[in-house]
Amino acid sequence: MLNKGQSEEELFAFLAQKKSEDLDHDFILSSMCTIPHSVAVRAHCMFMETNLGDPGLFPGTFSLEQLLVRRFGSLFHCETAGGYATSGGTESNIQALRLARVQNCGIREPNVIVPESAHFSFKKACDMLSLEIRPAPLGRDFRMDADAAAGLIDKNTIGLIGIAGTTEYGMVDPIAGLAKIAVQHDLFFHVDAAFGGMVIPFLDRPAPFDFSLAGVTTIAVDPHKMGMSTIPCGCLITRDPHLLDSLNIDTPYLTVKQEYTLAGTRPGAPVAGALAVLDYLGTEGMKAVVAGCMKNTERLIAGMETLGYARAATPDLNVATFSCEKDAVPVPWRVSWTRQNHLRAVCMPHVHAGRVEAFLLAMQEHKKR
Ligand code: PLP
Repeated sequence: MLNKGQSEEELFAFLAQKKSEDLDHDFILSSMCTIPHSVAVRAHCMFMETNLGDPGLFPGTFSLEQLLVRRFGSLFHCETAGGYATSGGTESNIQALRLARVQNCGIREPNVIVPESAHFSFKKACDMLSLEIRPAPLGRDFRMDADAAAGLIDKNTIGLIGIAGTTEYGMVDPIAGLAKIAVQHDLFFHVDAAFGGMVIPFLDRPAPFDFSLAGVTTIAVDPHKMGMSTIPCGCLITRDPHLLDSLNIDTPYLTVKQEYTLAGTRPGAPVAGALAVLDYLGTEGMKAVVAGCMKNTERLIAGMETLGYARAATPDLNVATFSCEKDAVPVPWRVSWTRQNHLRAVCMPHVHAGRVEAFLLAMQEHKKR
């Protein structure tokens, strides 16, 4: 702690210096987050001091959170869905497994079945909740093998997880088939659509992944990914509007008597930001954003293949992966690498057509050296 405070000028010069050390989004192809939409930033600034952890003090902000949940309920074909705004996919996935755990509290050695492609947040969730994690293998198309998943179910299985938009390869698991299995075995079925939930509904031919399928219990969706909200904003959406009540604990000194959320203090600002983007763009605007991202993904795949870098998968969503040596990517471009060592590039909204061409040109120039 400084003994004497700094001048505002000095302080902000320091902060600006630190910000300039961050990577320019122009070169970031590795992230599932993006530059927030301008309406999200404006809404965020309006609600900066709000705390959804004490909703009685901020009834207006709380009604925005409920509206956000209603928007997702409607987008995911269940007008009566419940849910709340989380800090992102990790919290949504933890809470979903917590729900599955509470519903099956009689089982002493519970396990959950997740695809091998599952985001690492499930490892955290299983660790915290003492759940055995049973990874189901993927098919050659990088999608979860539904039959193999069914084969892993036993009397101690409390939940099944499918991914609608995998982090590494942008694939949508066979959610319809998994939902059927969940119904047959009366299992809690959580769909992690943290990434895909804001992409799939806006595609020309969306694969079924939501509450239109009997058997889907909960869905994770992240406005702070393809929803272009400010960070942090995820949502956990439940088919049963009262499901979350099973997580309630008493909150003696707040304006509410009980709370089911994981975090206590929760920011209202990104929730306002998320809703602002949805209501500003509407379905038409989101379809245009998603169509642009998909077109850029296709162009990136075609361009990389022309350079001799074969695609690793033909993705369902805007994630492109390639067989490529690590030193083939020039500085300052930032891509990531999958567990199978494929180059991974996510065509987020900030990766517009011009950036894709710039990347391809940089790859070509670098190859000549
Ligand atoms: N689920 C999926 C499919 C993801 O891709 C991610 C992050 O990329 C997460 C969950 C975790 O989200 P967060 O980092 O917002 O907690």
